[in-house]
Amino acid sequence: MLGGGFGGLWATRALRSAPVRITLVDRTNHHLFQPLLYQVATAGLSGPDIAAPLRHILREQRNVTVLMDEARSLVRGRW
Ligand SMILES: Cc1cc2nc3c(=O)[nH]c(=O)nc-3n(C[C@H](O)[C@H](O)[C@H](O)COP(=O)(O)OP(=O)(O)OC[C@H]3O[C@@H](n4cnc5c(N)ncnc54)[C@H](O)[C@@H]3O)c2cc1C
Repeated sequence: MLGGGFGGLWATRALRSAPVRITLVDRTNHHLFQPLLYQVATAGLSGPDIAAPLRHILREQRNVTVLMDEARSLVRGRW
């Protein structure tokens, strides 16, 4: 799974009972709740209020490993 944003995180959670092993890769270690960024920009909330570590969010999901890294390219397979 590339990215632990809304798409990647929700897809990972949806697969929690599937017979698969998931590796979630994100270049940051946290999920950012973007809709509340304006609250941080206007000092209504602090940064940590809208960001949570991906490993903490997914700590009870047994079939996922979270890695912090950056994808630089996608290679098309021949299958
Ligand atoms: C200020 C603001 C307010 C918003 N308000 C709303 C709202 O009220 N309602 C609503 O429905 N939507 C809202 N949105 C839009 C919503 O946040 C996005 O549509 C949503 O976050 C997109 O989800 P995503 O998973 O596609 O991408 P993202 O949530 O951006 O996640 C992408 C993830 O992939 C990671 N990533 C990216 N490139 C790489 C790479 N090369 N290698 C490794 N990791 C990588 C990033 O670090 C990130 O964690 C708002 C957006 C913003 C910026």
